[in-house]
Amino acid sequence: MQPVRYSNKQRKEYIQELKDAEFDLLVIGGGITGAGIALDASLRGLKVALVELKDFAWGTSSRSTKLVHGGLRYLKQFELGLVREVGTERAIVHRNARHVVLPERMLLPIVEGGSLGKFMSSIGLWVYDWLANVDKQERRRMLSKSKTAELEPLLRKDILKGGGLYYEYRTDDARLTMEIIKTAVAQGAICLNYLKAVDFTYDDKGSITATVVVDVPTGERFAIKSKTQVNAAGPWVDDVRGLDDYPVRGKHLFLTKGVHLVVPFDKLPLEQAVYFDVLEDNRMCFAIPRDTITYIGTTDTAYKADIANPKAELSDVKYILAATNRMFPTANLELKDVESTWAGLRPLIHEEGKSPSDISRKDEIFMAKSGLISIAGGKLTGYRKMAERTTDKVCERLGQKLACKTAEQILGGGDFDSNEALQDFIVQRIGEVKQVLIPAQKIKSWTYRYGRDTDWIIARAFELYNKVEDPERRTELAELQYCIAHEAVYRLNDYLVRRTGRLYFDLARLQKQYLWIAELMGAELNWDEARLQEEISAFERSIHEVLAFKEELHSSS
Ligand code: FAD
Repeated sequence: MQPVRYSNKQRKEYIQELKDAEFDLLVIGGGITGAGIALDASLRGLKVALVELKDFAWGTSSRSTKLVHGGLRYLKQFELGLVREVGTERAIVHRNARHVVLPERMLLPIVEGGSLGKFMSSIGLWVYDWLANVDKQERRRMLSKSKTAELEPLLRKDILKGGGLYYEYRTDDARLTMEIIKTAVAQGAICLNYLKAVDFTYDDKGSITATVVVDVPTGERFAIKSKTQVNAAGPWVDDVRGLDDYPVRGKHLFLTKGVHLVVPFDKLPLEQAVYFDVLEDNRMCFAIPRDTITYIGTTDTAYKADIANPKAELSDVKYILAATNRMFPTANLELKDVESTWAGLRPLIHEEGKSPSDISRKDEIFMAKSGLISIAGGKLTGYRKMAERTTDKVCERLGQKLACKTAEQILGGGDFDSNEALQDFIVQRIGEVKQVLIPAQKIKSWTYRYGRDTDWIIARAFELYNKVEDPERRTELAELQYCIAHEAVYRLNDYLVRRTGRLYFDLARLQKQYLWIAELMGAELNWDEARLQEEISAFERSIHEVLAFKEELHSSS
């Protein structure tokens, strides 16, 4: 099946339609929450528009731990309903997007001074399996000390008492968001990045009739008419509520920052993902191997600074390195080993007197008198259920009874019956592309990004065979052309940070490539010299941000 055409080259046409039509629903925010709602409502047959201030998944939805998981730690807080919901959702999200939600074996070491003893870990993991109705082959196995040490030789032995082995799912949050957006677009939704909601207009009863937006590239201001409006602006939910003349009073957001850091795989060559005790403060961290790197996180600290620019500070990086070295002492990680970082903000709902880690991750919907429906809190994993609840409210407002259809909806290029079918696809394509010199690793990374749409990129690489001599540039151009034609890429950062994740997972190599990739992109999108330089500078600022802690180090020494 041909991927749906979805390109910012058609930006003028999209904007014209946004100006002309009246929508059933306008969604503000293109993170996973907004994307999920746009898809759910489109599948129910509603006419939907979505506006995103920057790029899709630019906010928290590209800066999470990138797990579709049941949230084992919420068991400690007895949030059984939450664990049951997200635990069950894991299987659905995996089934609908097998290429981007992959099973991940997770080891839970049980250690002296850790937050869970052997008995409690065993019971906890059992309850986890039971609540989430986990498949037999993925259920937890408790391990002896020697078996745990054998499975993960880097673990510290002196305090090790045993372990638990269970399954979670690893994803790429920004890619998952993009696959949902593309599926909504295929259903007829108009989803546009770089459009900022700045105001509302009202009828004489005080109900919103339109959302005023600014087209960020041109500064043009116009109104989008819709019968209902959803505010899914993540950490900016309160800001968007603030635009409303009749906002809901009372509950407000509480933001906490979470940092991850990336080290070369060789520096922390784990056999599988590990969910380990920090030991110092009763918190836990993930260490997740992924191709050529291992990433580790996260922190959880109250955040009151600039929402648009959370950074991994030196103290955050030192905290994660110290925790990791305590559990994997031979790794001996140092600041210089950190290749990249990211920092995200959890849009939690304020609860008086609770510490950041103790605040519930439950989502909540706020209904304003003006009609504005705001949704906050929640998890990546539970996005589909959050969308269902929110779209139910939209339907109520519209006076329509329409059933949710997302449980069976395959996302983007994710049409694979099983993990075996996904692996067969990869093996077959690797065999087919040898003649155009596409490395096997490229086929793998394309399939884990774009699923079956990889065939479009391969076909393009064949077409480019006689036009672009250098194989590396040829495959890059084929992928870039796909992202421009089918994933609404507008800026260099969109491509290098969120569509391909390379700012986080492959920065060392990317530092040598980004200038010529920018030129390729400029040629595709007819950028003049000034725009090209602006795009390069913006990407260099992104590099600077993920490595900002190094400057702090230099200025303090
Ligand atoms: P965002 O992704 O922030 O999206 C909101 C969007 O609204 C932004 O893109 C923003 O640009 C846009 N916006 C703001 N104002 C406007 C405006 N005026 N007009 C137009 N658009 C606007 N969950 C999991 O399930 N698994 C995990 O492993 C996990 N790990 C996490 C780790 C960390 C460190 C953090 C911070 C969170 C983690 N979460 C995890 C939670 C999950 O990432 C979030 O719940 C989720 O990404 C929130 O998505 P969102 O769409 O609500 O917000």
